[in-house]
Amino acid sequence: MPDRHQLHASYCDGHQKRLYGSRNDAKGAIRRQHDKGMRAYLCELVAGHWHIGHLPKDVLKGRVTAAEIYGGRS
Ligand SMILES: [Zn+2]
Repeated sequence: MPDRHQLHASYCDGHQKRLYGSRNDAKGAIRRQHDKGMRAYLCELVAGHWHIGHLPKDVLKGRVTAAEIYGGRS
């Protein structure tokens, strides 16, 4: 079994998105893109890994929270 943690950049096949090993890594990637409409969120398929993605328009307008859409528990 290869150790996935040895990979420099991992990839989530389920979401077809880049994975980040920590919330800080994901937030750093957002910062580098200078895109305030993006957020870091936990991948529910790969435990302990994070994706970044654009906020849905309803969240940007303050009508619903991201947790309501993505089912976050915190
Ligand atoms: Zn994923």
